[in-house]
Amino acid sequence: MLPVLVVHGGAGTIPKDRVEMSCAGVRAAARAGYAVLQRGRSMDAVVEAVTHMENNPAFNAGCGSVLNVKGEVEMDAIVMDGKTLASGAVSAVRNIANPAQLARLVMDKTSHLCLTAEGANQFARAMGVPEVPGESLITDYARMRWQLNLAPGANPVECQMGKMGTVGAVAVDADGNVACATSTGGILNKMEGRVGDTACIGCGGYADNRAGAVSPTGHGEAIMKVTLARLILFHMEQGLSSAEGSDLGLATMKERVGGALGGVVTVDPQGGWAARFTTNQMVWAAAQGDTLHYGLRPDEVLTQSLAPE
Ligand code: ASP
Repeated sequence: MLPVLVVHGGAGTIPKDRVEMSCAGVRAAARAGYAVLQRGRSMDAVVEAVTHMENNPAFNAGCGSVLNVKGEVEMDAIVMDGKTLASGAVSAVRNIANPAQLARLVMDKTSHLCLTAEGANQFARAMGVPEVPGESLITDYARMRWQLNLAPGANPVECQMGKMGTVGAVAVDADGNVACATSTGGILNKMEGRVGDTACIGCGGYADNRAGAVSPTGHGEAIMKVTLARLILFHMEQGLSSAEGSDLGLATMKERVGGALGGVVTVDPQGGWAARFTTNQMVWAAAQGDTLHYGLRPDEVLTQSLAPE
């Protein structure tokens, strides 16, 4: 069994001028997470990879998050450990640079699974997690999109469904332990207080050593209706491969709730992996052995050596 780490930087169509930064961003995050995976645990590796992407303004997570209807950043994040089924999440949290790390603290330091809004911020303060000015998480690009979508005549469906940009990672380590982490600013111009799939166990992430681990991206409300991460693992429990289970879960989401915007990265405990999506694009990268695989369009798989760039 070869340890593997797979990341995504969101499903949806990426504007041409942002393709290169998104592709470079997932490759760098996969390398960073894989360096941790080679020394240790899948949980540490997925949090490292997601932290990397939260710190990269190319993505809709941490700095670079999309804005809610009031022009503010509210973020959701989740982590899950496949060995113990321990999980932690935060929803609608503000002023935190790395929500996935805060979700991990919820898992490690509380008896709860999810803390929300001001309660999550109070917990962050108690844990000594520094708060950052809301403005420091807002990019010019995010503000421009928010304003465009407030304009009279803007099509809110189109604007919410364009580029998603959530980030996520799944991994299996040398001991066969799987883990997942997902982090997002949610969907563009969402209502204040909206909680998406990313904070909800079984929807925006699930990990179980008996089946595998999944981190989804896409239209959160559709993902939640079919509990996408758990649905895919159910299919894998029935004998499907990570790619087959992912495709079937995404197809079910399309068919049952019209959720045509979805993507996932998936691993199984044997080191099998998949990056699948129903959108035109999903930027992803997978590190295994001495090879980095990556892609953007359906069925595109490029490779490079994992030797330092
Ligand atoms: N799933 C996220 C949400 O609905 C959006 C995304 O994947 O980019 O909050």
